[in-house]
Amino acid sequence: MSWLRAFTLLLLNVLAVSASAYDYDEEFDAANTDTWPVIAVIIDDIGNRLRDGERAVALPGPVAYAVLPHTPYGDELARAANGLGKEIMLHQPLQATDNNHLLGEGAITLDQSASAVQATLVENLATVPFVVGINNHMGSLLTRHPGHMRWLMQAIKQNGSLFFVDSVTSGQSVAFTVARESGVPSIRRDVFLDSVQSEEAVAIQFARLKQHARQQGYAVGIGHPFPETLGVLEKELPRLSGLGYRLVSIQSMIERQTDNAKIDTTVAPPRFESFQRNASSKQHPEE
Ligand SMILES: [Zn+2]
Repeated sequence: MSWLRAFTLLLLNVLAVSASAYDYDEEFDAANTDTWPVIAVIIDDIGNRLRDGERAVALPGPVAYAVLPHTPYGDELARAANGLGKEIMLHQPLQATDNNHLLGEGAITLDQSASAVQATLVENLATVPFVVGINNHMGSLLTRHPGHMRWLMQAIKQNGSLFFVDSVTSGQSVAFTVARESGVPSIRRDVFLDSVQSEEAVAIQFARLKQHARQQGYAVGIGHPFPETLGVLEKELPRLSGLGYRLVSIQSMIERQTDNAKIDTTVAPPRFESFQRNASSKQHPEE
């Protein structure tokens, strides 16, 4: 895609987002917080860098942290976040179509049997304390395979009452559907905040996260401990309640959905913002 097309799309996106943000600010019922759209934010890829991890852990409110297994600072950062009352998730590496050299230790791959999947998950959980849920690191290949997803969900169920968040790193992911079928409480990622690492791009994605929340009543955003992402979240998270949004934990968002409604698992997963990804040379390997 040419830079001109990418720029045009970006500009349209900015205009659309600012218009809808204005509309909502005029409307929300300040007195009745139960009617406010809810937003949850997960910071992925915690564990390899201490300073960025500490800054992420200090974000205000019930932000969740997805910690990579077998990492030098995973244990320390999980303990720090738990001490602040935050949710800890295991960021389970799953085989991707590309860039598998970035999976790190503890990956689940297509050549593993059901018992190998189970053993890998148990080993990984032993390296991250206080885990209440799991989401996938990469996984654009493995999340398309219902058989392996079923084995993973069975392994998750055997390790206590953990929830699963489908990071949706592939449009063909069946992870959410299989999780639900397997009886694992589950939700899907709506917006990646930092496929492009610039404060402008992250701010646009955060506005898009709010837009999703207004449209469907809730929205899950995933970001990474990049300085640009953390800079935007440090500014935006404290403003949410003044704008009529509630920042909630993943656990309470899933519980709220289970209480409220039968989720339609046939709804198409969120689309990718490929023009933004193409517009940057600094990409991260979630896919
Ligand atoms: Zn990741």
